Amino acid sequence: MVDLQSQYQKLREEINTEIQKVLDTSAFINGPKVREFAGHLADYCGVKHVIPCGNGTDALQIALMALGLQAGDEIIVPAFTYAATAEVIGLLGYTPVMVDVDYASFNMTAEHLASALTPKTRAIVPVHLFGQSCDMEPILEFSAAHGLYVIEDNAQSIGAEYTFADGSKKRTGTMGTIGCTSFFPSKNLGCYGDGGALMTADDGLAEKIRILANHGQQVKYHHAVIGCNSRLDTIQAAVLDVKLRHLDEYNAARYTAARYYTTYLKDLPGIVPPDEMPFSTHVYHQYTLKVLDNKREALKKFLEERGIPAMIYYPLPLHRQQAFQPISRVVGELPTAVQLSDSVLSLPVHTELTPSLQDMVIGRIQEFYKL
Ligand SMILES: *Cc1c(COP(=O)(O)O)cnc(C)c1O
Repeated sequence: MVDLQSQYQKLREEINTEIQKVLDTSAFINGPKVREFAGHLADYCGVKHVIPCGNGTDALQIALMALGLQAGDEIIVPAFTYAATAEVIGLLGYTPVMVDVDYASFNMTAEHLASALTPKTRAIVPVHLFGQSCDMEPILEFSAAHGLYVIEDNAQSIGAEYTFADGSKKRTGTMGTIGCTSFFPSKNLGCYGDGGALMTADDGLAEKIRILANHGQQVKYHHAVIGCNSRLDTIQAAVLDVKLRHLDEYNAARYTAARYYTTYLKDLPGIVPPDEMPFSTHVYHQYTLKVLDNKREALKKFLEERGIPAMIYYPLPLHRQQAFQPISRVVGELPTAVQLSDSVLSLPVHTELTPSLQDMVIGRIQEFYKL
C-alpha cells in the first residue's frame, strides 16, 4: 500500500546527514530541530502556533484536555473514521455523539449536526478523511451559532486547502479552534516512528497545550495541572523538516496517481471512484473506491491472489464497535456510514507509484469485471 523504502532512498543523504547531526549533539529530547520544524510547519500551514507531540492520538487528547470540558459533555464525531478520533473522547470521560457522513466525500457535513445537538454539546470533531477537507464553512457557522469548539482531525489531509464562499483559502487543520495531525510513517507527511502536532491561532490555547503536553508544568517540577508526557523526538523532527520541503511534491504525486486510476476505472459499472469536492483540494491519503453489488470481498480477494494489496478503511463504523457502544450516543441509523463500511476498498496510492505499476492494478480490476 505504501513504498517508504524507495521514498527514503531518494532523500537518503539529506536525511542521514540531519539524523547524524542530532546524534552528534545528542539533544534527543526538545533539541533545536523540534522548534525549527514547528516553525516551518506553521509557515507552511499559515497558522500562528504549531505544538509538536508524540503522535496524532495524543494531539487529539491534548486538544480536548485544553478545552476544560466536564465529564458527560458531548462531542460530535463522524461514525465513519479511524477509532482514534473518538477513543480519546471516551478516555477523558466525555460522550462521543456519532453522526452520519456524506456518501460522495466520506466526510461529516453540517447537515447532520442539528439533530445531534443537546444542551451538553461542547465540541465538534470534523475528520478530513482520505485527503480531502470537510465542507468547513457551514460547520464553522453552526459551531459559532451554538458556541461549540471545533477540533479538526487532520491526520489524513495535511496540505489540503479549503476554499470559502468568498474565495479565501485555508489549509485543513487551521480553520477550527485546534487542528490535530499525525506523522505516522504512512501519512502524507510521515516520520520514521511516531509523531504528531497540534495547531492553533489562539495564544492562550497554545500555551495551555504546551503545558499539558509537558506534565502540566510551566516551570520545571512545578505542576499546575494534570498533563501528560507527549513529545516529538528530535530525530523525528529532523526527518520531518526534510520531508516537509517535499510535501507539496508528494501530494502532487499522489494526486497524479489518483487521477490516473480514475481515468481508467471511471467507466467500470461496478465501481465508484473517489469524488473530488469543489471546495477542497485533494491530497489522496487514500484512493478509496466504492464497490457496488456486494462485490467488495470478491474483488479484494481477486486482487490479493494476484499480488495486489487492497485495504478496507474502515470495515466497521464506530457505532458498531464494541468499545464505543457503552459510552456513545448515536444519532439515527447512520445508513451511509454502514453502507460505506460495507463497500469501500482502498488501492495503493503513494509517492512512488509509476504508471506501469498502476496499469497492473487497473488491468486486474478490469479483468475482474469481465469475469
Ligand atoms: C492516523 C490517524 C490518527 C492517529 O494518529 P496516530 O499518530 O497513529 O496516533 C487519528 N485520526 C485519524 C483519522 C488517523 O488517520
